[in-house]
Amino acid sequence: MNIILLGAPGSGKGTQAALLSEKFNLQHISTGELCRKEVSKGTTLGSKLADIMKAGQLIPDILIIDILKQHLLESSKSNKGFIFDGFPRTISQAKDLDNMLADLKLTVEHVIQINVDKNYIVSRLSSRTSCAQCGHVYNDKTNPTLVSGVCDKCGSKEFIHRQDDNEEIILKRLDVYSTLTAPLIPYYQGMGKLHQIDGNTDVETVSNRIENLLNADKVSPKSASV
Ligand SMILES: [Zn+2]
Repeated sequence: MNIILLGAPGSGKGTQAALLSEKFNLQHISTGELCRKEVSKGTTLGSKLADIMKAGQLIPDILIIDILKQHLLESSKSNKGFIFDGFPRTISQAKDLDNMLADLKLTVEHVIQINVDKNYIVSRLSSRTSCAQCGHVYNDKTNPTLVSGVCDKCGSKEFIHRQDDNEEIILKRLDVYSTLTAPLIPYYQGMGKLHQIDGNTDVETVSNRIENLLNADKVSPKSASV
């Protein structure tokens, strides 16, 4: 079973991908992580990527597709399905991905979109802090420290509120995200692969919703609930 997870920054997509990969024994593929790994390997491609990232530019789609392809070829022996987290983000990436997967005789069965209200994301992200000492990440609303104002891990009393976590920047990021990804919805809907999940609740409930959906689909693989 191969899956794409779609969701705005702050939708909890990364967390859900990690949970799904455990529950269904799937390989969690984050393109950001693959790129960083390539850089650390010091390959020709890796140093090219490092230059692009240092310049603060976006990595061209063609390079990301190449990296993904190589990764899938190397890991195809493991015979595990995969979850794409954070890719594709645009319609052209989605088409490139489909072509590349077709080359490898692979296909994506399910595209799961986690829908979360803007207000919910803003309140979730803007209440995120990290320990100034050890970097552990907390959330005043969903994942607070055990003792107020004291890091559970190292006891430090200093916390950092990330600059890019303020409301205005979050809203801008969400706008960019929805503009880019909007065309993906009819694209995958047309293939009968899209599932929409209400993500305006806690991590466990959302995870159970996704699990139920995938389990139901195992029984009747033809049904594509939207
Ligand atoms: Zn700490």
